[in-house]
Amino acid sequence: MNMFKSLKLKLLFFFMIANIIVLSGFSVFIYMTAKKGLSDNLNTMLKIISMDVIPDFKEKKELHAKEVADELYDEFGIAPLHIKIVHYNKKSNTIENESVSSLEHAELFDIPLNEMGHLRSIYYFDKESYRVSSMLLFDEDDTKIFFQLAMEKSTNSPYLKGLLISLVLANPIILIIFLFIANTLINRTLQPVKEVIGSVNSISANNLCKRIDAKKIPTEINELVETFNRLLDNLEESFKRISSFSSDASHELKTPLTVIRGEVEVCLRQERSPQEYKNVLEDVLVETIRVQETIDQLFLLTKKDTAELSKNFTELYLDELIPDIVSQISRFASKRSVHVNIKNIIPATIYANETLLRIAIENILRNSVIYSAHGAEVEIGMSDSDKKYLLIIEDHGCGITKEDLPFVFDRFYRADKARSRKASESGTGLGLAIVKMILDIHHYDIEIQSTLGIGTKVIIKIPKIDEQKLIINS
Ligand code: ATP
Ligand code: MG
Repeated sequence: MNMFKSLKLKLLFFFMIANIIVLSGFSVFIYMTAKKGLSDNLNTMLKIISMDVIPDFKEKKELHAKEVADELYDEFGIAPLHIKIVHYNKKSNTIENESVSSLEHAELFDIPLNEMGHLRSIYYFDKESYRVSSMLLFDEDDTKIFFQLAMEKSTNSPYLKGLLISLVLANPIILIIFLFIANTLINRTLQPVKEVIGSVNSISANNLCKRIDAKKIPTEINELVETFNRLLDNLEESFKRISSFSSDASHELKTPLTVIRGEVEVCLRQERSPQEYKNVLEDVLVETIRVQETIDQLFLLTKKDTAELSKNFTELYLDELIPDIVSQISRFASKRSVHVNIKNIIPATIYANETLLRIAIENILRNSVIYSAHGAEVEIGMSDSDKKYLLIIEDHGCGITKEDLPFVFDRFYRADKARSRKASESGTGLGLAIVKMILDIHHYDIEIQSTLGIGTKVIIKIPKIDEQKLIINS
């Protein structure tokens, strides 16, 4: 049934059924108790009347039903009454009786003699809608005199009828009042559920960090809320990964795509020899492969899948990698008339994910180029300390303020100066965050020394290969 899909209607329905059962039971009990009370009353009445006759009987043995009836009517005002005085002679086995009745069907009251009774004991029984009593008034010389009375039973009494009507009318009214109260209470009880629904509705992709406050929630739905909050945690985490992947990927694809486009556009400007076309296509192929690798590695990086990332760790010759990266960046640098000089290169075998390490070094170099003035020099060099190689990239550009320095690795953080640069050069503030993420995976440390207006020095501390393998395996 559709109605049972609503928890509130379901509760109200069960409450109504329970109430109908309780109210009916209670009404039946009240009615039966009242009925029994009336019946007891009638017995008492019959007894009182019977007892009332005893003194009269003692005074004058010859009692007439009519006299008794008149007297009782005067005294008690009871009109519908059947009185019968029975004389029973055991010896001759004769029964004489005299009766007076204001009840219909007097013939019904052909009352059997109660032989069981002791003197003055009363015997009650029902005859159709009448209650009958029989009392042994006299028992001597084989003669027994019974005084018998019959009164209409109270089943049809207006009191009982009134009670019945009241109960029949009151029950639905009480039921409606109870349902109204139950409805109010259920609404109040279900209020937290409504609040939870409201909070859930207010959560969207834009505010996935919002959580449902489980403090005021009743314990019964607390578990549901906590489960939902956990689901939101997971969703938020996945959402962050997806959005960081898309921003990281678009950040890193900008340069190679510009290179590919530039090469193709230049090539198409005029007829070329097959060899020239071949050269361009080879360059495009190299860049395309790099794009592909970048996407794969960034995807793993945002998933923080270290196991998968370290699968791509290989022994690399840093002294060979650096000139390769510099030649890659020099086209970009020359557009800004910045020269990238390789200063001091020493043979160094390191253990790294080549694609990612390239991305990191390129980003640092690109910053040095961007934040240097036209015609400036940028140096990249190495030095060797006890357990580490130091890769140093130094520029003489605008520098970073002390206030900005602690935040440059934050995602989307850009120093004010950088922000006010020309729109064509404006970045996203992601470069160093990606660098940091990559270096963390490698367990490389990074240090930035910078003085505003003088320049910036970035130092990457790369553990020597044995040390590196030890760190990664631990
Ligand atoms: P993009 O995402 O395009 O790299 P970005 O260069 O602004 O943008 P980051 O590379 O993360 O972002 O650098 C963060 C901020 O640090 C920069 O906005 C800049 O203010 C400052 N910064 C980084 N490197 C240098 C540098 N060599 N010289 C001066 N400021 C720098
Ligand atoms: Mg940058």
